[in-house]
Amino acid sequence: MLGLMQNQPLLISGLIDFAERHHGDAEIVSRRVEGDVHRYTYKESAHRARQVAGALDALKLEFSDRVATLAWNGYRHFELYYGVSGSGRVLHTINPRLHPDQIAWIANHAEDQVLCFDLSFLPLVQAVHERCSTIRHYIALCDEAALPVESGIPGLISYESWIGTQSGHYTWPSFDENSASSMCYTSGTTGNPKAALYSHRSSTLHAYAAALPDVMGLSARDAVLPVVPMFHVNAWGIPYSAPLTGAKLVFPGPALDGKSVYELMEAEKVTYAAGVPTVWQMLLGHLKPAGLKFSTLRRTVIGGSACPPAMINAFRDDHGVEVLHAWGMTEMSPLGTLCTLKNKHDSLSDSDKMKIRLKQGRAIYGVDMKIVDDSGKELPWDGTTFGDLYVKGPWIVREYFKGEGGDPLVYDGDGVGWFPTGDVGTIDADGYLQITDRSKDVIKSGGEWISSIDVENIAVAHPAVAMAACIGIAHPKWDERPIVAVVKRPGMDITRDELLRFYEGKTAKWQIPDDVVFVDAIPLGATGKILKTRIREMLKDYRLPTA
Ligand code: ADP
Repeated sequence: MLGLMQNQPLLISGLIDFAERHHGDAEIVSRRVEGDVHRYTYKESAHRARQVAGALDALKLEFSDRVATLAWNGYRHFELYYGVSGSGRVLHTINPRLHPDQIAWIANHAEDQVLCFDLSFLPLVQAVHERCSTIRHYIALCDEAALPVESGIPGLISYESWIGTQSGHYTWPSFDENSASSMCYTSGTTGNPKAALYSHRSSTLHAYAAALPDVMGLSARDAVLPVVPMFHVNAWGIPYSAPLTGAKLVFPGPALDGKSVYELMEAEKVTYAAGVPTVWQMLLGHLKPAGLKFSTLRRTVIGGSACPPAMINAFRDDHGVEVLHAWGMTEMSPLGTLCTLKNKHDSLSDSDKMKIRLKQGRAIYGVDMKIVDDSGKELPWDGTTFGDLYVKGPWIVREYFKGEGGDPLVYDGDGVGWFPTGDVGTIDADGYLQITDRSKDVIKSGGEWISSIDVENIAVAHPAVAMAACIGIAHPKWDERPIVAVVKRPGMDITRDELLRFYEGKTAKWQIPDDVVFVDAIPLGATGKILKTRIREMLKDYRLPTA
């Protein structure tokens, strides 16, 4: 017997419809490439998203055709999120920080038909367009007046004139909720990038789950600023979760320096922000010397790489802001776990609470996880045994786009497929996951494992250290030993021996790095994460003093 409830497919258009009807006057504020600040409401945004849908129909795009974007976080990008997916096409957000060869490769692989881009990326589009064989329409995200005259890009039109021909009277189509809605390529540090192809169902369920109180905890009383880019894993789902809750959205556009982000946060009374640790490092670095404080920010979700304790402390002690540590990946839409404390933790000392806050957190309903040994046997949840982390759930990839790389899942005896994350971690008795490392970054020393994350966290707790990256170096006796590459804070000094002494008492002796290498900068990848492969290349001639 089937239940007798209304059968409505979970479609992305439903989110913007809801925001338009129930939070129509909630604001979306964007810093634009043009330099000014644009503001309007969900109601106006929904109207323009329907204009986008109509304009795509006018281009005769078929169901599931791919529409690519090279764009910052902003209102036009947001309209494309809804206009493209809502009308049944697939939004392909491209990371503009990728190498042009990679961009051309993924545009061809995705068979993008349309490319919408912010004018900041005009030189990039000029460099790659001749190699993008499937793209038929180029649209610059600007008005007619700002359209470059001789761009060299065939048929280039402005977004405003493109959607301006549409009335906005458009009825969102209904279709199977399992239809593809958007796609995102993984950064692909090895081999060609592979795409996660999200569905309307997976994105909507993820948006619901992300908004829960013990997850992002978004509400209509929040003003949310995603520093995490809309061009990578849908800005952690915030463009979907915000309309679902009626939260005000504040988009920083291209101005991602500490000063600009801080000023926008203050001007728009932002209560909630989201970003990777390197972004906050920069923001906090701007605030501290200037003696600036956040006056409205209450919580910030930090993920994408491990959040150092020094950062959690700085947010709490200097600004009264709670850090929510999150873990996830492109293949998981991206949220997997988020760290909030339980009632039973209330009586713990601050330092014991910190030990929990540093963990990547508890699984969100919808995500199941386990850690396994080399033979695939599940390991205990005791907070110390570590193993390869596997996940499953309705917003986790089953297969990559076009079947690239074959079947990624690992099957239990009963045929249940788990996605191997490539991360190594522990899970404690309360279900809190702690990532030890990426399996390829963990340092194997004398049969024991050293977490590069732990080594980095201690280094950046030193006031003279701006950034740190730990890698393993081959060692004749121990197999590998850790060293730490360090960028000093401007105007501050520290010696190798001082930093090594700083480790004493903070970690086991054999986990203290063998050496410190001072560098001018630590290379970051396209999503703002430390590029360990590049550091290994930089230090390929390095020899350990202890070897
Ligand atoms: P990529 O940019 O390489 O595609 P993702 O954005 O999908 O990567 O990042 C996923 C990976 O980032 C995870 O598998 C994990 O190694 C790392 N990661 C994400 N969040 C955290 C975190 N809070 N702590 C430690 N590592 C994290």
